Amino acid sequence: MDSTSDGTLGSNVEALPPEASGAEVWSALGAAGHLTACYRDGDPRRGLRPAALARLLAATDARFGIPATLSVSVPLATTLPVLATGTTTTARQALKDALAGRVTTALAATDVTAGTDLTGLRTAVHLDGDTVEVTGEKQWIANATTAAWFLVLARLRPGRHFTSFTWVLVPSDAPGVHVRPAESALYAASGTGHVRFDGVRLTAGHLVDRVGMGLPSFARHIATERLAGALWGVALCRRVLADTRRHLAGRAHGEATLWDNEAIRQRFAACLVRTQELHALCEQLAEPVARRHDTTAAATLKAAAGATVGQVLTDCAQWWGAAGFADGSLQQTRAQAALFGIGGGATEVVLGTLADSADHILARLAPGGETP
Ligand SMILES: Cc1cc2nc3c(=O)[nH]c(=O)nc-3n(C[C@H](O)[C@H](O)[C@H](O)COP(=O)(O)OP(=O)(O)OC[C@H]3O[C@@H](n4cnc5c(N)ncnc54)[C@H](O)[C@@H]3O)c2cc1C
Repeated sequence: MDSTSDGTLGSNVEALPPEASGAEVWSALGAAGHLTACYRDGDPRRGLRPAALARLLAATDARFGIPATLSVSVPLATTLPVLATGTTTTARQALKDALAGRVTTALAATDVTAGTDLTGLRTAVHLDGDTVEVTGEKQWIANATTAAWFLVLARLRPGRHFTSFTWVLVPSDAPGVHVRPAESALYAASGTGHVRFDGVRLTAGHLVDRVGMGLPSFARHIATERLAGALWGVALCRRVLADTRRHLAGRAHGEATLWDNEAIRQRFAACLVRTQELHALCEQLAEPVARRHDTTAAATLKAAAGATVGQVLTDCAQWWGAAGFADGSLQQTRAQAALFGIGGGATEVVLGTLADSADHILARLAPGGETP
């Protein structure tokens, strides 16, 4: 049992207002021990515990909404597990502080170039003895405005070879680091922003993991972010469907309510089917992703989550009519939730990954085929 097993987050976290920022929520979750509970033996090196992660994301989403949950999901699923591969004192201390909620971290992969073309990124790191110098810009980074540390994916040399990239841990208060918020009211609470590195000079102790292994490490750990997104997607759809069901049942229409309209009931049922499909996929694929970083399983989850969240949120927002446009209501949630089809790998990119694995997936679907 962990501390979210009853679906609540404990008094310290629940005391925060619903509009609390992602950084405030992260800090309270850390102090309450919820963050370590998401890992086997409380250690990010040992991998995620999908059921505990699902409960934490569901409770955070229900209480604080999408932007704050993003601020929690990205570090838990990706930033801290990557950081945990580091062996330097700097990486170890940053990990310890982050897990306790004392500091916020940001995963800075997306560059000024297209995020869907990751190996085209331009941010560069120059190594010279014990000196490391980082130059470039990262854009649309969750927690950027609050982070004490940026975990930066930077290039060592020109070209797209998989050994050309490495992780650097950049303190946000280092000379040459300039942060500005993204132009987005929708995601303000997540501290999403842009960060420029103007010749930031650090020691080699700020390199994380083995030099040149940044891209394989990114691929492994973006898989767990995709799992987190699918687990969160189920929780989000369930919450929105439950709210909408109550709304429809209470909305008088003719001699009955909107819930009694057969066209609405059938489309609602279709949303229930989609959500259950996503839930079943999570049940089947969570362990292969959490234990083996199975990239095909992760791409399947990501593609399914983007489509399911898109359909459910669009239909539910429609059924709220004008009320859906009230401040903080479902049309805003729908717009925020469009991120499920973009962040952590756009739907088209993960579909490309699945097409590459078509033969393998088809073989597994044969009667008696191997399970993932
Ligand atoms: C709120 C928010 C928080 C974020 N947080 C982080 C973070 O913490 N860390 C981080 O590193 N990044 C983060 N991102 C960035 C996110 O990962 C990128 O937005 C995403 O990878 C897509 O990159 P892009 O926006 O540059 O889109 P582009 O690469 O410009 O692509 C735009 C569109 O082109 C289409 N497209 C692209 N490739 C293909 C293809 N192969 N086939 C068909 N169509 C295609 C897709 O429809 C895609 O959406 C965040 C973004 C947002 C909005």
